[in-house]
Amino acid sequence: MNNPASMLELRCKFCSAPLSAKQFEEIIRCEYCGSSQKLIDARSFVDQILLQVNAWVRQSMPAGLGENMTSMMDPVARHMVFINSIKPRLTTEYGEYKFNCFNLLSYPLITLPFMVTNAGVKNDPKQIFLFQAKVQSIQQLAVDTDGKDFISEINAMSVAYGYLLNNIMLSSDNKPERYHFMTQNFDAASQATKSLRRFPGLSDRLEGLGKLSNGLDLLMSQQPNKATAPLQEAKNLLEKSEQTFNQNPETAILNMAAKIELSIANSAIFLTEYASQDASGKISGDFSPIANLLSIISTIQKTQSSIWKTPFLDAMHNEKIFGNIAAICRAKNGSGTINAIFGNGSHLLPFWVVDIPYTFQTGALWKTKGVEVVESVLISATFPADSNALNGAELRHVLTDVFGARLIGGFMDSAMKRMSGKETSISGGDPVRQVIYLSRPGNPRGIKVIPPLSTMDDAVIIAKEYIKMACRLDSGIGNKLRLSSPRAVDLIYIQGFPEQVGGNIVPLLGGLSPRSVGNPNAILGIAI
Ligand SMILES: [Zn+2]
Repeated sequence: MNNPASMLELRCKFCSAPLSAKQFEEIIRCEYCGSSQKLIDARSFVDQILLQVNAWVRQSMPAGLGENMTSMMDPVARHMVFINSIKPRLTTEYGEYKFNCFNLLSYPLITLPFMVTNAGVKNDPKQIFLFQAKVQSIQQLAVDTDGKDFISEINAMSVAYGYLLNNIMLSSDNKPERYHFMTQNFDAASQATKSLRRFPGLSDRLEGLGKLSNGLDLLMSQQPNKATAPLQEAKNLLEKSEQTFNQNPETAILNMAAKIELSIANSAIFLTEYASQDASGKISGDFSPIANLLSIISTIQKTQSSIWKTPFLDAMHNEKIFGNIAAICRAKNGSGTINAIFGNGSHLLPFWVVDIPYTFQTGALWKTKGVEVVESVLISATFPADSNALNGAELRHVLTDVFGARLIGGFMDSAMKRMSGKETSISGGDPVRQVIYLSRPGNPRGIKVIPPLSTMDDAVIIAKEYIKMACRLDSGIGNKLRLSSPRAVDLIYIQGFPEQVGGNIVPLLGGLSPRSVGNPNAILGIAI
């Protein structure tokens, strides 16, 4: 019989991970969960586990067989004890842990800095460790291949599960050092599952997550240049595991989680570009935009809006935002361009160009005909930083209100045209199209750029809501329009004054300028 004491070196009394104590050290800090404890407490925790393991072995053995007799038994007798007494007990307990572990594994196991996850966990790492200690104590009873495979699977899975439970706890709390500890746990979990053949791709995924948390740790400790290599490795490993999961029915359930983690790795790579934005390749001295950006994103993710709740929580949503930020950095250092219109203003502001195609009836009686028009609207890509736009109370302020402009433009005039069948549009968006036409690929040097906080898909949603609102406010529009779906076609940056809320933020757009591009305090803090 294996003496459990040999594998029970010093263990953390909070998470059961191995502790490495230096000589004469009285307080030890756990490298896996970050808790500190007295050496004496860690010792007594191990003693308690030992007592429980021994009691379990006594109960599990057939009557009359002492825990120390098994080493004297011949292989056939050991096999019989294993099959009849031990395996059934382990199978039931393992079945429950395996189910819970796969449930955990079917969700993404990492988040970006400043964000937290709140996965519900059903087990405590100490409980899993006790189970693993039991398994190790009887492993010599498994003599045939089946029995040995069974033991090594439950060993590997319970070790990995214990470390992953640690990470769930760590990722629910936004502490700066959490990625350091998460790296340790992912690495240990990946090591434990390396030789496991039953769940291909699992070890790659866990190793990839270890590289990802290591990269995020380096990024957050302001060493973005060092973060690039582990993040790239993370991307490769997660890609590989995602493909492997897809080919195996037992792991197909893990596919979506790996996809999301891959998206988080891509976001982290873009963030690294952002953090090392200096053209010379040096680390930028000012780290605050990255922290501000992540905290704005984590704030808008908490929105209660039924429209935005789901899209904002999507990891791919963040990836697109960070992708555009990386594009701005490339345009700044000359390795790429962004579509920009320079004019008057303190910053370059991002706008989505959305085409709204529609048909309307014009002319009187026998001259009635359908006219097809494409209207273009500019929507502030930082609209999530405007609380009224986000909660749907007033979204006309964050876009070029071309249907509203029609009313200002003079109803009489357009009624006259309608009579003659010469009306070519029922909105007032011509100046907007003229401005869009000016956009050119460029390099924004010497001017700060505000990155978008939304995606093209978000812009389409805003456009649809805007059309609904316009039809409600002016039944003339609703009656005459036959609308097609709006299409977001481009992201352009126009020079303007984001701080002039309620005023003329984009002078080039004249009276059609949006009145808000979001709370200036929020968006000025993320300018690159
Ligand atoms: Zn610990």
